[in-house]
Amino acid sequence: LSASRTLWELLDRRAELTPGAPALIQADEPDGTGPGAGDRTTTFGELRTRAERTAAGLYALGVRPGSRVAWQLPTRIETVVLSFALARLGAVQTPLIPSYRDHEVGHALRATEAGFFAVPGIWRGFDHSAMACRLALALPVPPLVLAAHASLPEGDPAALPPPPADGTAVRWIHWTSGTTSAPKGALHTDRGLITAGVCLAAALRLTPQDVGSMAFPYAHVAGPDYTVMLLLRGFPALLVEHFSLPGSLDAYRRNGVTVAGGSTAFYSMFLAEQRKQPGRKIIPTLRLLAGGGAPRPPELYGEVVRELGCRLAHGYGMTEAPMITMGDPEDTAEHLARTEGRPPAGMEIRVTDAHGEPVPTGTEGGIRLRGEAVCRGYLDPAQTAEAFDADGFLITGDLGFLTAEGHLVLTGRAKDVIIRKGENISAQEVEQLLRRHPAVDDAAVIGLPDPVRGERVCAVVQQTPGTAPLTLGELASHLTGAGLSVHKIPEQLELVARLPRDNTLRKVLKHKLRERFGACGEPGQSAR
Ligand code: ATP
Ligand code: MG
Repeated sequence: LSASRTLWELLDRRAELTPGAPALIQADEPDGTGPGAGDRTTTFGELRTRAERTAAGLYALGVRPGSRVAWQLPTRIETVVLSFALARLGAVQTPLIPSYRDHEVGHALRATEAGFFAVPGIWRGFDHSAMACRLALALPVPPLVLAAHASLPEGDPAALPPPPADGTAVRWIHWTSGTTSAPKGALHTDRGLITAGVCLAAALRLTPQDVGSMAFPYAHVAGPDYTVMLLLRGFPALLVEHFSLPGSLDAYRRNGVTVAGGSTAFYSMFLAEQRKQPGRKIIPTLRLLAGGGAPRPPELYGEVVRELGCRLAHGYGMTEAPMITMGDPEDTAEHLARTEGRPPAGMEIRVTDAHGEPVPTGTEGGIRLRGEAVCRGYLDPAQTAEAFDADGFLITGDLGFLTAEGHLVLTGRAKDVIIRKGENISAQEVEQLLRRHPAVDDAAVIGLPDPVRGERVCAVVQQTPGTAPLTLGELASHLTGAGLSVHKIPEQLELVARLPRDNTLRKVLKHKLRERFGACGEPGQSAR
């Protein structure tokens, strides 16, 4: 199976092997917005049949091999069916997360020159069809808007051309989170996504007895990547369209989920829920929490093992390379708590100095990547030229080091380093110490342009509800007490009701904070 050239070939082979085995289980939505008819299950055989019929329906509407098709659909069985129908046709798909609005969607439609755009109608109170029509009309060549809410177009598969044979053609354009600048379209191939899925399934030691869960937007690159794992190992996944606590946990229990997770935010959400009912495992069948995408404090590992009664495997991935490293659940607690795990065979990691020269093991530097599971480039050739070095390595913009045993430790992002009077300050370090203050619910540290210092350190804090307003002086003495060097102590404090977070990975959108506070803040000013 792992040698399949294309995603369609992989589904086809899985459907031959275990046609009657469950593949996808749609969780009934606990908040009453779902169908209300209980969980729905689709087998691998049904997935293939439905995808083929949908491919024929799309073909009749004009979708051809190589056609560019955008879709903005929730985490639903129909979305997976549509995505595989496009894989069957050999179309180029560009998934967009459901929370994107006019600005991001308009940019993606224009940049990809999409000929078709599939939307869910009215979804969670927002009229996607109206937005799609509005945006389509503003384009020189409007895409055909397809309503994909209640049902998908269907046709007779006999009319279809043969499936694509080349797995190395660009068939996916996935958008980055837009943390550091506007989202970039990363170009992926079927083979690249299959390779990432093969490595991830091996790293997490997944078996046909597992029951997985996808409670994140399927439009994220992790969507098809996860599905590759289901097809390889033949186990099912629970699809959760709208994750909520404690309601969604019923579906995890009903379906005996063994591997849960997604982004770092899930770990703490599960832990918080567990703490409300000590003595009773909130998901009795859970053996592993797995995820990545953002930093997590090292103490989390012990808390998860003790309180949730399962392992925690944390990994490093990005839209451009969904599987870079992953913790091995069988590894030691020390490694699982403090590193992002090891890269799989075939993923080359090069840690470099400021000139792009490799540095010795154990030395911190910029992380560069090369391998089949790394994207082919970006939609914008100028971005590709800037991001890949002469040896074909992708410059990730992340900082870290490799240990003597080959584990990767991430230390921050190059763009998240504040340079104050020539001294480098890791935002992550200051943030972690800030969060230890009881009145700090969440914090982000940013560098703002400063005429004297080059940059000054600004702490943006979301306070714990019910606590008295924090002052700069109070935070400074907390940080000094925690041992932070004087030059790293924030000189500006901004209190916000909520930090702006990306909806997919819950990462703080720091460029929005820099825009908001960069112009108005005076050095040394106290909280407003
Ligand atoms: P953009 O590229 O548009 O600025 P982004 O890089 O945040 O946005 P993603 O591709 O969703 O978009 O995120 C990848 C980034 O997430 C990585 O480059 C890294 O900075 C961060 N990340 C991923 N895994 C981890 C991890 N385990 N620990 C810390 N940070 C992580
Ligand atoms: Mg990025």
